[in-house]
Amino acid sequence: ETSKPGNFITQIIDKDNESGKHGGKVFTRFPPEPNGYLHIGHAKSICLNFGLAQRYNGQCNLRFDDTNPEKESVEYIESIKRDVEWLGFQWSGEPKFASDYFDELFDFAVQLIQAGKAYACELNAEQMREYRGTLKEPGKNSPFRDRTVEENMAIFMDMKDGKYKDGEVVLRAKIDMASPNINMRDPIIYRVRHVHHHQTGDKWCVYPMYDFTHCLSDALENITHSVCTLEFQDHRPLYDWVLETLKTAHPQQIEFARLNLNYTVTSKRKLKQLVDEKHVYGWDDPRMPTISGLRRRGYTALSIRNFCERIGVTKSDGVVDVGMLEHAIREDLDASANRVMVVLNPIKVTLTNYPADKEEIFTVGNHPKNEEAGTREVPFSKELYIDAADFAEVPPRKWKRLTLGGAVRLRGGYVITCDEAIKNEAGDVVELLCRYDENTLGVNPEDYKPKGVIHWVSAKHAVDARVNLYDRLFVNEAPDANYEDKTFLDFINPDSLTVLTNAKVEPSLVASHKGQGFQFEREGYFCRDLKEDDLVFNRTVTLRDSWAK
Ligand code: ATP
Ligand code: MG
Ligand code: MG
Repeated sequence: ETSKPGNFITQIIDKDNESGKHGGKVFTRFPPEPNGYLHIGHAKSICLNFGLAQRYNGQCNLRFDDTNPEKESVEYIESIKRDVEWLGFQWSGEPKFASDYFDELFDFAVQLIQAGKAYACELNAEQMREYRGTLKEPGKNSPFRDRTVEENMAIFMDMKDGKYKDGEVVLRAKIDMASPNINMRDPIIYRVRHVHHHQTGDKWCVYPMYDFTHCLSDALENITHSVCTLEFQDHRPLYDWVLETLKTAHPQQIEFARLNLNYTVTSKRKLKQLVDEKHVYGWDDPRMPTISGLRRRGYTALSIRNFCERIGVTKSDGVVDVGMLEHAIREDLDASANRVMVVLNPIKVTLTNYPADKEEIFTVGNHPKNEEAGTREVPFSKELYIDAADFAEVPPRKWKRLTLGGAVRLRGGYVITCDEAIKNEAGDVVELLCRYDENTLGVNPEDYKPKGVIHWVSAKHAVDARVNLYDRLFVNEAPDANYEDKTFLDFINPDSLTVLTNAKVEPSLVASHKGQGFQFEREGYFCRDLKEDDLVFNRTVTLRDSWAK
């Protein structure tokens, strides 16, 4: 692992290890709030935190940051565990919950009160805002700031005992209302919330705030390096203040730039909106940038880890081209996925000179660059399907497919020549009458040259399947930006899903397993859907990047 390139965080850790700052230990954590499914941005944080632990033979905790019970659920907890494991990482011991520490956190708050460093405050939300001041103006002290320790203790106990309604009173740290950093202006550390908690049930009606909870949870777990995204930089003085004031262990908070991907939204709130308003079929819709959506789309864990490695870890925000993510899965599947033949929009081909009762079996290689991938048997007979897009009555220039009077090779089979196109009343071509050249199996014809190679299936042996052609969910590079008159919903790609119900797949695909990835020859990379029992395939990515910028 140490052979992998480092980054500014590994430089910090290397220095700490030299100086023995944390006793040479590296203990990290990945701390999701269970208020949604994990997305590709979280994958970056997961790869970073678990990757650091691997690199330094340390440990990484999975900790649910569960201080907002109203928005959280066990469904989200389960999905997060599944996704972290699927990405290939194992947390240290049991998963942890910030709510495991509610007793300790309450005691820490009591300690702050006793040290004269926290007070109960009854300003309402509007007054609180007004007293807080602005970036340009210092705040004002709350009229409740100088309560005695005894009074504060009594109120805090009453808060815990349910004697206050939601919002009537809060506990605040007593720091500095004139601090240039607004986070230090007596931040709220506890509030009253009469809600059920998915882990602690109805035990509590006071809940600690994130900034109070997070640093202390890190300290209680003996985390050495608390890695988080840049927006927490301004919270670091508070992180340090709490730990210094309470004289606990003192992990080091280190901020890195979050992942922003173009053509993508990565905010749980917005992803939840897409699900709730039914713009997609669920959190694991293959168009979603969630880990579960990417998995169902056919992304492998390896491709996501490779992507996270390549984008690197920096200290300044930037936008990564979603093409890099697509490149990562193309690269993995090009190497690992077997090739098969699937006709997406079938048109019938009848070989007029092929005996009606004859059948052949061709043995076809599964992978052009890897013999170890073996071979499979592909049946051949008088009636075939090819893709409608592979025939043109009036071909454009440089046409490399089938046309009237022209010849093409059937992949792994014979060369055929088209004699006649049969049309229906509407004038659409519904069947092609062709001749096969029996001397062309694995051999080029001597006196004419086939125009190209096309894929096909034997009509009699083919199996029906549904194919979901997915495309990017947003047509705008920055769907998430602030627009005067538009929201991200206005940029949803109306063609992000095309369902083909009439695809014909070669019979070998009946034995495919859910989630298995393939290259459909000449069409793209696809995977068998993870959920559907029927033969349903999802397009993971096209063979080439076809998005014009
Ligand atoms: P969101 O804005 O999507 O709701 P969040 O930060 O509120 O994300 P958390 O569940 O708190 O979601 O995130 C868990 C961890 O993942 C945090 O340490 C957070 O910094 C990190 N993380 C979240 N989004 C990204 C991202 N886009 N890039 C890198 N890390 C991220
Ligand atoms: Mg968060
Ligand atoms: Mg959030």
